[in-house]
Amino acid sequence: MRIFKFGGASIRSVEAIEHVATILQQYQQEPLVVVVSASGKTTNALEGVLDAYYKRETDLLQERLAAIKAFHQNLLTGLIPDAKHPVYNEINDLWVDLDWILEEEPQDSYDYLYDQIVSTGELLSTTIVAAYLNTKGIAAKWLDVRDCILTDNTYREGGIEWGPTEQNIRAKVPPLQKQGMVITQGFLGATTENFTTTLGREGSDYTAAIFAYCLDAIDLSIWKDVPGVLTADPRLFESPQLLERLSYSEAIEMTYYGAQVIHPKTLRPLQNKNIPLYVKSFVTPEGKGTVIEAQEPEHYPMMVVVKPKQILLRMVAKDFYFVDESKFARLFESLSRHRIKVNMTQNTAMAFSVCLDYEAPRIAALLEELRKDYELEVTNELKVVTLRHATDEAWTALKESTDALIEERIGNTCQLVLHQTAPVVLPNF
Ligand code: ADP
Ligand code: ASP
Ligand code: MG
Repeated sequence: MRIFKFGGASIRSVEAIEHVATILQQYQQEPLVVVVSASGKTTNALEGVLDAYYKRETDLLQERLAAIKAFHQNLLTGLIPDAKHPVYNEINDLWVDLDWILEEEPQDSYDYLYDQIVSTGELLSTTIVAAYLNTKGIAAKWLDVRDCILTDNTYREGGIEWGPTEQNIRAKVPPLQKQGMVITQGFLGATTENFTTTLGREGSDYTAAIFAYCLDAIDLSIWKDVPGVLTADPRLFESPQLLERLSYSEAIEMTYYGAQVIHPKTLRPLQNKNIPLYVKSFVTPEGKGTVIEAQEPEHYPMMVVVKPKQILLRMVAKDFYFVDESKFARLFESLSRHRIKVNMTQNTAMAFSVCLDYEAPRIAALLEELRKDYELEVTNELKVVTLRHATDEAWTALKESTDALIEERIGNTCQLVLHQTAPVVLPNF
């Protein structure tokens, strides 16, 4: 049993989906589960619909919805020109379900509505891809992942109920597989009451790892628009190197610091069962890609991770007492309750600074709470730059080239908090 995952970029157009089919054609002989994301930027577009809906901006809502419908209609007619094909009704049913939600007044919580609306992206893409594969003679069975992945009711970040999820996957997948490759949605789950949940943005990699874990897969391959895991994001650095091998631990570190190439939750389930993860290019499928497995390679080159959208919060207690353990306990309890990720911390006798992911509503709620006890100083529009396995020269050069708000070196990891616009100067990288 193998698991594949195709992300949004790999199925963003008619031509891209045709190309994915040529890759899948070569794997028809083996049992396969294919986890698919929403097409292109559909998830962002649906977030736009939700936003307009929540703000009751009806015209904007209709305009945004119409654009998403037209985009998918275009995929459908390009891939399956026969307008009598049953897939047209299936897609229509998905629009009806969505319209039905959007016709009601938005009364439920934002996070709940998010999951009910934004989940449509994966339902659409998988329906189209599965139908198209079948028209090309590649036997494919569509599976509703919400019958498999059970979560708690933390909307927008469903926590997996592993016991029932494993049972469901083991019961549902093998019989379907006898009839063809199984095509299912990334990113989605459901509660015990059958409400749709999502697993957090970019969560389809995680979905694929859940299937790999539950089915004891021989490997998981995630197909990307890059040759594999690189020493840096190629959108930010000119010519990063391909990492042919990485250990689970190193990959966990990279994703923890914000490397966007793999969702951070993906690696643990694989590590627990020693299932190798291949990161491969859908553009050049014959390329080696990266393999992530238990074994540590002998040497790592320097890697750079840049995490944008950070804010620095400096707190001084209004009672002028030290920021001590009991204050830390309350602070971290607030951060955890507001689901805000802390990326770096620094404390002196009177002040405590934290570098946080900037999520506007959550940060606003946190600041309001902390203002009662602390004088707050907020610096916006920052990024955290992390170097792994940096040479002393690189670390020194970087520090000298810029004014960092915080800097720290622990073992193999060097980190700086910089203004978003500050250049990251790394000689010979
Ligand atoms: P998917 O289509 O599967 O969702 P993503 O867009 O989430 O794919 O991930 C692929 C992108 O990750 C690449 O296009 C690349 O810009 C970015 N990326 C960030 N860091 C790295 C890295 N270290 N190596 C490779 N790609 C990276
Ligand atoms: N479609 C979702 C997103 O864009 C999940 C994913 O692609 O992994 O976040
Ligand atoms: Mg992604």
